[in-house]
Amino acid sequence: MISKKLQDALNAQINAEMWSAYLYLSMSVEAESKGLKGFGNWFFIQFREEQDHARILMNYLLARGGQVLLAPIAEVRTSWGSQLAHEKKVTAMINNLYDMAVTEKDHATASMLKWFIDEQVEEEESATTIIDSLKLVSGDKMGVFMLDKELATRTYTQAAPL
Ligand code: MG
Repeated sequence: MISKKLQDALNAQINAEMWSAYLYLSMSVEAESKGLKGFGNWFFIQFREEQDHARILMNYLLARGGQVLLAPIAEVRTSWGSQLAHEKKVTAMINNLYDMAVTEKDHATASMLKWFIDEQVEEEESATTIIDSLKLVSGDKMGVFMLDKELATRTYTQAAPL
């Protein structure tokens, strides 16, 4: 059985992952509205991945006999350009969860969270790559067009723990 404290923290993380999904959905819609279908595709896949993250945590809570509480998802007020700052915040939340699990000597939760720790390295890297690419092509329409074409090739793969 998982502790109440960790259960609450994991439920908060589920909500954060769903908010992340919402953030990327908003970025996807904004990109598509500008005619950037490749960016739209890339962010839409991210939207799906974030829902996978929430699902992994839900499955885990259920497996441990915990209770899943689905709190309201807050409105997305910022979208374009807030990706890296947001991922850094999520990384800090995951690290904090891991610290809590270690403090409680809840080895199963710590082990489950390791996947998320590794995943955040990738998330921050891909956010940085997109931001760097946009800086490189700054103002150049052909560059943005090519980047959009590249991002259009991303395909969805279900997260490994699922
Ligand atoms: Mg996530």
